[in-house]
Amino acid sequence: MTYFFETYGCQMNQAESSSVEQLLSERGWTAAESVEAADLILINTCSVRATAERRALARISLFCSWKRKRPLSILVMGCMAERMRDALKKKYPILDYVVGMFERGEFSDIFSAIESGARYQKTDERAVNAAYYFAASSYQSGAFQSYVPIMNGCNNFCSYCIVPYVRGREVSRSADEILAELDTLADRGVREVTLLGQNVNSYRWDDPSTGTTVDFPGLLRLIARRVEKRDGIRWVRFMSSHPKDLSDDLIEVLATERVFCRFLHLPIQHGSNRILSEMNRKYTVERYLSLVERVRARIPDIALSTDILVGFPGETEEDVQATLDLIQKVRFDAAFMYHYNPREGTKAFDMPNRIPDAVKKERLARVIHLQHATTSSIMRERVGKKVPVLIEGTSRNDSTELFGHTEYNEMVVFAEPLDPSLIGQFVDAELKRLVGRTFRAVRS
Ligand code: SF4
Repeated sequence: MTYFFETYGCQMNQAESSSVEQLLSERGWTAAESVEAADLILINTCSVRATAERRALARISLFCSWKRKRPLSILVMGCMAERMRDALKKKYPILDYVVGMFERGEFSDIFSAIESGARYQKTDERAVNAAYYFAASSYQSGAFQSYVPIMNGCNNFCSYCIVPYVRGREVSRSADEILAELDTLADRGVREVTLLGQNVNSYRWDDPSTGTTVDFPGLLRLIARRVEKRDGIRWVRFMSSHPKDLSDDLIEVLATERVFCRFLHLPIQHGSNRILSEMNRKYTVERYLSLVERVRARIPDIALSTDILVGFPGETEEDVQATLDLIQKVRFDAAFMYHYNPREGTKAFDMPNRIPDAVKKERLARVIHLQHATTSSIMRERVGKKVPVLIEGTSRNDSTELFGHTEYNEMVVFAEPLDPSLIGQFVDAELKRLVGRTFRAVRS
């Protein structure tokens, strides 16, 4: 039997889709050549933005129309399945399965039912599995990069964010399971791993067998010891880090354990203290800047990226200027920039003084313009450097050229023909010039 996956949203969703794909492949399913040819269509949804929900709804509606004409199973999972479970079932009665965030342990039973042409019926809608279920592995066949979820959920309730309502409270994965997954990934040829969680800094595993607690720096130390014992994984990253929970101990681990990329994603979200307080971010600009200072003092060659949210309700021109000033002050290497999107059920949804779309877009354009100029200027300063590059594949424009990325996540295209057998390997490169925001490099 064949399946087709459509995944929306964050890296956590991608990791969860990979783990379900792995389960399907262990059961003998294969990926369909196209969505039209699949026996089972799985849609892993995102609720962070209304646009992502609208896109998924349009696809679900299309697939339901196909199901009226041919045998087909449709499964919706992810944040939207959790948030709109009953509404989805009511709107699309033909839809086969809506699998909420805490029912993921039921996939095997669902797939067994589809394989035997039966229909899986839950005995009790919600009480079957109330805890979040971490899959044993999120490995994607043939990949040399992999996500490794280490925790799920969030306790922070930033006023604009739907995540705590759909993913629930923070749950940490057992350190032993994480280490075991790293072993498996290394055996399969994975070279780079990204540890995932909504706020990895609050990772906390209470080991019932030893009575000890492993915090995030402790977990990173365990990972460093495990990875250094064997060939394979050379780069480990993590995201996201809430600034309020980034400890000096974590900075120390990053400074001393070289397996962790000198790249830190530290979302600031805004440059105005008033807006940060309305967002319930629990830090001030001054505290964030002192954190950046501490990180850079201990690890001078670290690259910093961030998230910036423009157009929060009540944002003034002064607040926008404060954000632009902050970008100039910190000189982030990269940023993910987006405008505010009202999400029903969050605190900000009911806040007055929403910013009109056109104004949000204009403000965001200014922020993006400044950040892109900053990124380009930092990258220009790196021309001439010799750095390791993980080769990812052949360039879209020229199949004789290989491309990859640096420890700082910068894109590199090799300006000389290289053997495609290097795909998935680290190569020492000299950054020769910058074209847009991509380096042209030669092997050094
Ligand atoms: S830290 Fe804030 S923005 Fe991040 S997932 Fe939690 S609530 Fe959402």
